Amino acid sequence: MRNFCYFFVVVLSLLILSEAGSSKYITQTRILMGTYVTIICDGSREDINGAFSVIKKVENLMSDQLPGSEIYLLNQKGEGEVSNWTAEVIKKAVEFSQITGGAFDISVGPLVDLWRNAELRGRVPFSKELERARSLVGYRNIAVENGRVKLKNEGMRLDLGGIAKGYAVDKAIGVLKRRGVKNALVNAGGDLFCLGEGPHGKWRVGIQHPREEGKIVGIIKISNKAVATSGDYRRYYVIEGRRHGHIINPFTGWTIQGNPMSVTIIAPDTTTADALATGIFVLGPDKGMKIINELPDVEAMIIGEGMSIFTSPGWRNYY
Ligand code: ADP
Ligand code: MG
Repeated sequence: MRNFCYFFVVVLSLLILSEAGSSKYITQTRILMGTYVTIICDGSREDINGAFSVIKKVENLMSDQLPGSEIYLLNQKGEGEVSNWTAEVIKKAVEFSQITGGAFDISVGPLVDLWRNAELRGRVPFSKELERARSLVGYRNIAVENGRVKLKNEGMRLDLGGIAKGYAVDKAIGVLKRRGVKNALVNAGGDLFCLGEGPHGKWRVGIQHPREEGKIVGIIKISNKAVATSGDYRRYYVIEGRRHGHIINPFTGWTIQGNPMSVTIIAPDTTTADALATGIFVLGPDKGMKIINELPDVEAMIIGEGMSIFTSPGWRNYY
């Protein structure tokens, strides 16, 4: 979400393989939340417009780069009133921090800033700078109560980039359902929900090869579930000729270097899939898969070093 204000040429990590050309289905793509958002559904143009406006609303509330957004103001003042939606996302984010033992942490804001500046300066941060930014990170210092959020330490900043797109997709699906749409796919840059079926049965989602653009490593068949991918190949900082993926390890302050290359999560809702994809990316295949195996109704595919592929036991049910 840090990147909202930029236009990104995003290679979608998940290629939608549905044949949206089929008569009943209509499709539209817009640029929102710093990425391409595509909606395919068997409803009307009004249904699609309604779904897009709710995604815009989430962006306006939760982008930390948009002056006046709730998160922008919260980061400036350190505390404040927020809407039910923003409070809900922050609460869920803290739950995912607990589940992942702090690997997923929306208080990474100061580290994200540091790495973005590092790219501008053309050199990696000094260890002192990393240490300072890291000392401001800590989900335990986020307090949410009765619509009020307080960041307990001076200088803390929230970044909902690892969860808000998933939440926006869930909200969009909610709008479509309320309007009576039975079959739809909402994809926000690789965080997506498949409602009902596509034109030819279950929605088919291709998982992008993390190093070969346009190549797919597998296709999964999805209905009434969310899929989200975090990868190091779509958004990254280039510093001293090296690529640094945009997901940061809150324990070290460093970006993740090549292991894993991508994490795809299947979950009952997109908020969960989005946050877990980011958190498991930090943890890597071994620790990550242990957590996934303990969560009901959640499956994962992790692509690690040398294209080693790890899948949770239930993953095969989606082929
Ligand atoms: P994408 O935006 O490509 O879908 P993610 O969902 O994995 O990717 O989110 C990555 C974004 O989340 C980063 O750009 C940053 O804003 C934020 N972020 C980075 N590291 C973490 C982390 N350890 N925990 C939570 N959010 C993070
Ligand atoms: Mg995410």
